[in-house]
Amino acid sequence: MKFSVNSLCPCGSKKKYKKCCKIFHNGSLPKTALELMKSRYCAYAVGNSKYIMSTTHVLNNEYSEDKNTWEENIQNFMKDASFNSLEVIEFIDGAPEAYVTFKANIDINGVDSTFTEKSKFIKENEKWLYVSGDFNQENI
Ligand SMILES: [Zn+2]
Repeated sequence: MKFSVNSLCPCGSKKKYKKCCKIFHNGSLPKTALELMKSRYCAYAVGNSKYIMSTTHVLNNEYSEDKNTWEENIQNFMKDASFNSLEVIEFIDGAPEAYVTFKANIDINGVDSTFTEKSKFIKENEKWLYVSGDFNQENI
């Protein structure tokens, strides 16, 4: 995948990556669960598995203390998938819990694997984390 910091951010903001989610990938904390969700989608798109891991709550099903295997699993998923676009459907803000419903347009090995998900986020120690998602695969 060819991607530069001057490319448009994969999260759909129409800003350059370096002026958008890269700021969060470099360590700034997203102020809202929506910013976190977008920056996680973007991390998948740019292949930043460390960011996915560091923003996943311990209660998440994917969370693992075996960081090497976990990272390998994320990287395998990223390798096979292309992240075409993101559409935010609903954002229910709150603290410490917030919800984002979104549609992720992705292909896996060239097959349309677009899905919608209602994600739950929790803010802990000033940091938003991804907890869980109700996942719906579409039949297109
Ligand atoms: Zn972005």
